[in-house]
Amino acid sequence: MDKPVLYIVVPCYNEEEVLPETAKRLSAKLAALTDAGKVSADSRILFVDDGSRDRTWELIREYHEADERFSGVKLSRNRGHQNALLAGLMTAKDPADAVVSMDADLQDDINAVDGMVDKFLEGCDVVYGVRSARDTDTFFKRFTAEGFYKLMELMGAEVVFNHADYRLLSKRALEALSEYKEVNLFLRGIVPMIGFQSDTVEYERGERFAGESKYPLKKMLAFALDGVTSLSDRPIQGILGLGALTFAGGLAAIPAGLKKYRGSEGEEDFSLLLSNLWAVSGLVLTSVGIIGDYVGKVYLETKARPRYFIAETLNSEKKK
Ligand code: UDP
Ligand code: MG
Repeated sequence: MDKPVLYIVVPCYNEEEVLPETAKRLSAKLAALTDAGKVSADSRILFVDDGSRDRTWELIREYHEADERFSGVKLSRNRGHQNALLAGLMTAKDPADAVVSMDADLQDDINAVDGMVDKFLEGCDVVYGVRSARDTDTFFKRFTAEGFYKLMELMGAEVVFNHADYRLLSKRALEALSEYKEVNLFLRGIVPMIGFQSDTVEYERGERFAGESKYPLKKMLAFALDGVTSLSDRPIQGILGLGALTFAGGLAAIPAGLKKYRGSEGEEDFSLLLSNLWAVSGLVLTSVGIIGDYVGKVYLETKARPRYFIAETLNSEKKK
């Protein structure tokens, strides 16, 4: 087999502060891999500009003009990390034999790419980057992130523990991924569904090299909820269980209530009644909300709106 063509896909949203360093390090990494004879000289670093408002795209263009190792695609507007990543993966699917996806902020240790490529050469189709320590995170981030994986597991979504979107996918895995037509794509949950031979590579996740996190808590919570309702319908089953339980409890309480009612003469206590009313209405509203979330998903899926548009492509293959 010829040496495999490796694409490193990096979604970027307003990353002008960190991009110069990222480009430098990735190009050194790719050069080292090529020199070591592990990957083909046609390998590329593919930056996906997710509708940035800063100089991100200009930088990508500069790198591309200076070095053909850099390619770029620019989305028509900001579509969010998952869509930007998908746009990159689907662009790389045809030219590449294997694709590594990583964030632009250098939080993922790029040296783990070597391990991923080795596993790929040994025959793996999916190699997950798994973080070994969370020392650099604040307690809060660590707590919420670990809660996230626990919640996902509880809710019946299969996710790889401590794995974000740093992974290698072979051409075959990418082709399988492209078969998933859902608009609401949650890559972390979909990739394990693909199957094929997979392995993990451990790495230490550092702090953001520069710039600010684009994932504040509000977005993270939305992401977690979205993940659960994208992957599993267990919450709806939970509602069914809760409903049945409340109903049974209510029925069981009727005889006692009747007895008390007969025995009391005029003295009434509404506080218990009232708190029960609030509790049950709250439960009903929450349940309706959860079901509403699924209905909203069904609505979006039936519309099947396009996930992204590519406005511009910088590609050195075509020039040849
Ligand atoms: N990102 C993106 N589109 C967005 C938000 C983020 O492409 O709308 C990219 C961002 O440039 C980075 C990656 O997604 O490469 C992860 O974002 P960030 O580092 O801000 O998230 P965190 O590491 O804090 O979870
Ligand atoms: Mg980050």
